[in-house]
Formats: sequence, C-alpha cells, structure tokens
Amino acid sequence: MSEVFLASRNAKKIAEMERILAAHAPGVRILGLDDVPAYDEPVEDQPTFAGNALLKARAGLAATGLPSVADDSGLCVEALNGMPGVLSARWAGPPKSDLRNNELLLAQLADVPDERRGAWFECAVAFCHPDGTELVESGRMAGRVIRELRGSGGFGYDVLFVAEEWDESGLTTAELTIDDKDAISHRGRALRAIGPRIGALLTG
Ligand code: IMP
Repeated sequence: MSEVFLASRNAKKIAEMERILAAHAPGVRILGLDDVPAYDEPVEDQPTFAGNALLKARAGLAATGLPSVADDSGLCVEALNGMPGVLSARWAGPPKSDLRNNELLLAQLADVPDERRGAWFECAVAFCHPDGTELVESGRMAGRVIRELRGSGGFGYDVLFVAEEWDESGLTTAELTIDDKDAISHRGRALRAIGPRIGALLTG
C-alpha cells in the first residue's frame, strides 16, 4: 500500500484527502503530522496561498521522504483589497482566535454597504513527489460577508459568510451540512482538481 504524507493535524482534512484520493489511487493511506516523527515546520511567510502550500509540502517531503501534500487557505474580502488573505488565521493577532478575527472583520466592514461586501475563500493544495514533480491546484468559493455571526458548524469565518450558491436562502457556510459545504468549498474544489493528478503520479 502506498503512503502519502499530509502536513496537517486536522483529522477532518486527513479524512477528506483520503476520501478524494481513494477514488484515483485505491489503497493510498494518508499519514498526518501526528503519524511521523516531529520536525521543524516552516514559517508560512509567503505572500500567496500557493507559495505557502508549496513551502509546507516541500518541508513534508524533506522530513518524511514520502510524497507530500499540504494546503493553505483563507478569506479574501473585496472591500479590503483581498485581505485578510494569507493572514486569515492570525488577522486579529496572537493568540489565534476565530471569534476575535470575526469581530475585527465585522468592525472593519461596518460602514461597507451590502452591495460591496463581496468576498471569496481560496485554497491552494500542493503536492511534492520524491522524483521532483511538484503540482499545485487552487479552488475558490465566492460569496458575501454578512453583518452578524450565524451558525454553529464549520470553523473560522464560516459564521460570517454566505456562499453565492446559497445566497437566496441566506444560510452561512456554518449552517450548511458538511456535504453541502464540501460540494462548493474552495478546499473541496482544489482537492478534486489535484486528486486525479496525484493518483496518476502514484499509480504510474
Ligand atoms: P488553514 O489554511 O487551514 O490554516 O486556514 C487558514 C485560515 O483561513 C483559517 O484559520 C480560517 O480563519 C480561514 N479559513 C480557511 N478555510 C476556511 C473555511 O472553509 N471556512 C472558514 N474559514 C476558513
């Protein structure tokens, strides 16, 4: 059975990757950060999602010797010229807090009218193979930022975000089922784009 390393401790991300890869490379097992000896994880200091994802996948390959996958994602707000972008996780400064990030974003957009509250989530997924091959695919989910926190599912900025596909219902991505979010999410789209390419490389 072949193994792929995913530079993440998030059990949900690991399971999602395993599901998507299984369709293209049957029998592949995903190992996460907790399944390999600890190593110095790189500082995510690149200006783009793709740059950070590649940085993490390269470090994973260097540390484990296994084909390695990594992702980087965030929320880009039109009225803030694409910010918080790669700074999404730490937008309100340390310590990392989804609630403080959401409250800061709401305050920054307080005077922005409804028709200018467009935003999109973006995710880049990178794959590095020991033979030197590097792949990157990206996915987006477009929508808008609402004015109050709503919903209890998801994570991060989900409580503030209504996707285009759910605009009429007004449900935030924190109010969608996991399957409904996966079907349109930036991460789902990027993983489904890179899955077949990784599968082709692994199965030769
Ligand atoms: P990471 O790429 O998993 O480290 O995510 C970076 C940050 O972007 C997270 O901490 C969240 O603040 C935000 N983010 C990324 N994807 C999502 C999502 O699907 N929903 C809500 N927030 C997200």
